[in-house]
Amino acid sequence: MRFAPVPDYHMHTPRCHHAIGSVREYAEAALRIGLNEIGMSDHSPMPGGFDAAWRMDRSELTDYLAEVEAVRDEFAGRLTVRIGLEADFHPGSESYVRDMTGAYPWDYVIGSVHYLGDWGFDNPDNLDDWNGRDVEQAYCDYYATVAASAATGMFDIIGHPDLIKKFGHRPAPGSRRVRAAEEAMLDAVQQAGTALEISSAGLRKPVAEVYPHGQMLALAAERGIPFAFGSDAHAPGEVGHAMGTCLGMLAACGITEVVRFDQRQRFPVAIRELVP
Ligand code: ZN
Ligand code: FE
Ligand code: FE
Ligand code: ZN
Repeated sequence: MRFAPVPDYHMHTPRCHHAIGSVREYAEAALRIGLNEIGMSDHSPMPGGFDAAWRMDRSELTDYLAEVEAVRDEFAGRLTVRIGLEADFHPGSESYVRDMTGAYPWDYVIGSVHYLGDWGFDNPDNLDDWNGRDVEQAYCDYYATVAASAATGMFDIIGHPDLIKKFGHRPAPGSRRVRAAEEAMLDAVQQAGTALEISSAGLRKPVAEVYPHGQMLALAAERGIPFAFGSDAHAPGEVGHAMGTCLGMLAACGITEVVRFDQRQRFPVAIRELVP
């Protein structure tokens, strides 16, 4: 990698039923590739048992926190381990999310949109639900929901901000409606003062592209929106995945720093190019 490593703030545990590895294994993987800071951000519980098969149960939160705190303490001085959460933005659950995030000194909360209404559009089990969809409308609805998530002010980082492309469904190239929806989303993020995530996870998905795409990155850079890096690791071997690619994309947009968090306070981390 031609860049000094930055924090990786997006990784999961088996409590979400679709990740493997203990928190210690994620920390060890981070040290092996030379990171000095990571953050765990498992899928948070949702009210009413909503899509319970893809997230931890509320009763597991205490255990999640205990495991991350124990690893944080064990690795202190070698690796900074932050305690975060990937919370869904699903209109109607705002007060539940506020309760949960207010009840513990989280380092950061990632807000992600994985549902449009009850449709889990990024769930491979629901891939058939894309059949016959108006893709342009799905994109517009998605960006409007992401904009609304930022506007709540509940989140520190907006996760994988063009996740809707995950399986490669694309609106007509040059769609003005989609472009307008993207810009409105970025305006909302800028106004809320929230950071965006640059995520390498898309590279491991059918779309085979970083989230967000390069043009959105440039538009975000124009607005001075800060970025946090996330691999969205669901296995220890994915920690730090393609960090160099992501930092290179940021640097190409003239972005000179990413961010880190400590108890929901944001600090800059310079993107440093390594001299060979
Ligand atoms: Zn996940
Ligand atoms: Fe996510
Ligand atoms: Fe995630
Ligand atoms: Zn995720």
